[in-house]
Amino acid sequence: MRLLMIEDHRRFAKFVKDGLEKEGFTVDAVETASGSEDAIATVQYDAIILDLGLPDCDGIQLLRGWRERGDETPVLILTARDGIDDRVRGLNSGGDDYLLKPFAMEELVARIRALLRRPGGVLGLVMTAGNVSFDTTAREVRVNDRTIAIPRRELGVLEHLMRRSGRVVPKDVLEDKIYGFGREVSSNSVEVHVSRLRKRLAGAGANISVHTLRGVGYLLSEESTIAPQ
Ligand code: CA
Repeated sequence: MRLLMIEDHRRFAKFVKDGLEKEGFTVDAVETASGSEDAIATVQYDAIILDLGLPDCDGIQLLRGWRERGDETPVLILTARDGIDDRVRGLNSGGDDYLLKPFAMEELVARIRALLRRPGGVLGLVMTAGNVSFDTTAREVRVNDRTIAIPRRELGVLEHLMRRSGRVVPKDVLEDKIYGFGREVSSNSVEVHVSRLRKRLAGAGANISVHTLRGVGYLLSEESTIAPQ
């Protein structure tokens, strides 16, 4: 899951980003409203963490702007101000949840997962396809109830393919989801991860396959149900 964090307190932002990345999220951190507009124009985020007190714009104004133009990305508001007004204004302006600073990392992670599980959002805690299950909280994959170890990037690939099981996931979307902002990605890097993942799944006896649709993207299916190309 790829998150955008808009927070001008650099040390705090780094602490939160590191904490979230340990939990398997990919986090792009920006410090200003204008930086966030560039990020949002480039990437489809799964959720946004928004600090209300930004140097160049009020966070609520920013949020209102997204909602006015129809952007429904779930937004978790962070605020140090504990006036009830800010919370109410934030939720009325299209925020989905809020958290007062300071907060415990566990609390933030739990709230983000709850946001991602909301109706209309992405799928729940444990996804299954064929004999494979993916526990998105424990970051654990099981094949026929046996846990298999999968490195982080491959895990990211599998997660997105499973969330969109049976649908084509364009290669650049997948690339976007598993790499942070501004990182150099070599053109065949997703292919390498997919190919390793495929071998790993086959080796573990999984009955799902990752198909390559040349020049388009990837598609995950249960072996018996589809055979593209
Ligand atoms: Ca701030």
